[in-house]
Amino acid sequence: SAYLELQGIRKQFGNTNVLNHVDLQIREGELVTLLGPSGCGKSTLLRCIAGLTEIDGGQILLEQKDIVNLAPRNREIGMVFQSYALFPNLTVAENIQYGMKMRGASKGERRNRSEELLALIDLEDKRDAYPQHLSGGQQQRVALARSLAVQPKVLLLDEPLSALDAKIRKNLRTEIRDIQKKFNMTTIFVTHDQEEALILSDRVCLMNKGSIVQQGTPEELYTTP
Ligand code: ADP
Ligand code: ADP
Repeated sequence: SAYLELQGIRKQFGNTNVLNHVDLQIREGELVTLLGPSGCGKSTLLRCIAGLTEIDGGQILLEQKDIVNLAPRNREIGMVFQSYALFPNLTVAENIQYGMKMRGASKGERRNRSEELLALIDLEDKRDAYPQHLSGGQQQRVALARSLAVQPKVLLLDEPLSALDAKIRKNLRTEIRDIQKKFNMTTIFVTHDQEEALILSDRVCLMNKGSIVQQGTPEELYTTP
């Protein structure tokens, strides 16, 4: 059965339907990409799942429980944005530990977890650096680690690579896939890049004008009979 299930999600901005009864089922550990042109509603759908945007109708079930009425911090959903959005006045380690601190984790627990994640993203030598001294790719890896630190049930990645140079983008997408597999992290990855979707996903959902118009494995979608 589905680990995360969207049922009939609707969202309007003014008179415009931005999401039209979106249904989506995601298995535990699956990486699903939402692929579609700019403006089709991908970011809005992620923001609705995270609780950053209120929905006008529908249900969002995580492990069979409706999370629609939960505040964002209680949904156990992590989100990484296109712009890394790290706290500029906190060091890398402090950024990674921020969410854990908010949740009352002890100092020792926070340090252990952040050291583990720093090793995972290969930035142990940057633990005391400030974000401004990191490259874009490094900042995005810290943003990823910061999301993972609180052990979310679902990870939402909103075009996390699109601000980066082509070469870094390719390296980081492999890294993201490795980390996702290692943690068996249920993930939704938003992109408008077909190649990225093809390489990363267990399943691709094509979106257009607020609806999922087609879905399947990369092989199913891109292999011409
Ligand atoms: P995508 O992520 O696919 O580029 P978005 O979800 O960002 O698309 O946007 C979908 C549509 O909703 C666009 O037409 C966008 O202009 C509109 N939109 C997004 N956020 C808002 C908002 N806060 N207020 C009004 N319109 C919005
Ligand atoms: P993207 O296309 O990268 O998803 P946008 O540039 O469309 O991002 O949107 C950036 C921010 O502006 C988002 O918070 C979105 O909700 C908001 N926004 C987008 N379109 C509109 C709009 N037409 N009216 C008001 N806010 C909007």
